[in-house]
Amino acid sequence: MDTYLYRLGDKLYLNLTNRCTNACEFCIRNGREGMGDQTLWLEKEPSTEQVIGQLEHTDLSAFEEVVFCGFGEPLLRLDAVAAIGRYLKGRGASVRVNTNGQADLVYGREVLDELVGAVDTLSISMNAASAGEYQKICHSEFGEAAYPALLRFAVSAKEKGFRTVLSVVDTLPAEQIEACRAWCDAHGIPLRVRRYE
Ligand code: SF4
Repeated sequence: MDTYLYRLGDKLYLNLTNRCTNACEFCIRNGREGMGDQTLWLEKEPSTEQVIGQLEHTDLSAFEEVVFCGFGEPLLRLDAVAAIGRYLKGRGASVRVNTNGQADLVYGREVLDELVGAVDTLSISMNAASAGEYQKICHSEFGEAAYPALLRFAVSAKEKGFRTVLSVVDTLPAEQIEACRAWCDAHGIPLRVRRYE
């Protein structure tokens, strides 16, 4: 059976899609079935109603945060994230989306206003210090347009009042991590250096 909801530590994760506009070389989907003992490859993407139906039976007070993450890019399911996020906020949950920040390119418009009231935190993968380096490791279907778009997305998210975090993996060369940090410092956005697992 497909896993739409899974728990890791004190967080509840939602897995809405396996699709992504990137093919990152470090993606956890490469050669893995899921996280922990959960298989996250989906035979069928869940509807908004299916996910909310499962959440109805979940004690959200047991979780510090609910995270749209999964095995793919959650904002490819923008409408579902917005609707489920609003439902979760209505139940008092803190909601985060882990994203590659390319949603504006996907939809051809600025989408962040659609997430106001549904999402508290946007954790955006920065992954590199330049468009060329990003494309070399992330292989976006948008080519080198992806990187400036994700940076614009992050700046806009901060301006619109979302808690905004950029992230890189610790396998990136130290000088690139420092260049990412400098960009983040200049824009007042925290950088998280996450361990590659
Ligand atoms: S953006 Fe995330 S889900 Fe998509 S390929 Fe990269 S690591 Fe995997």
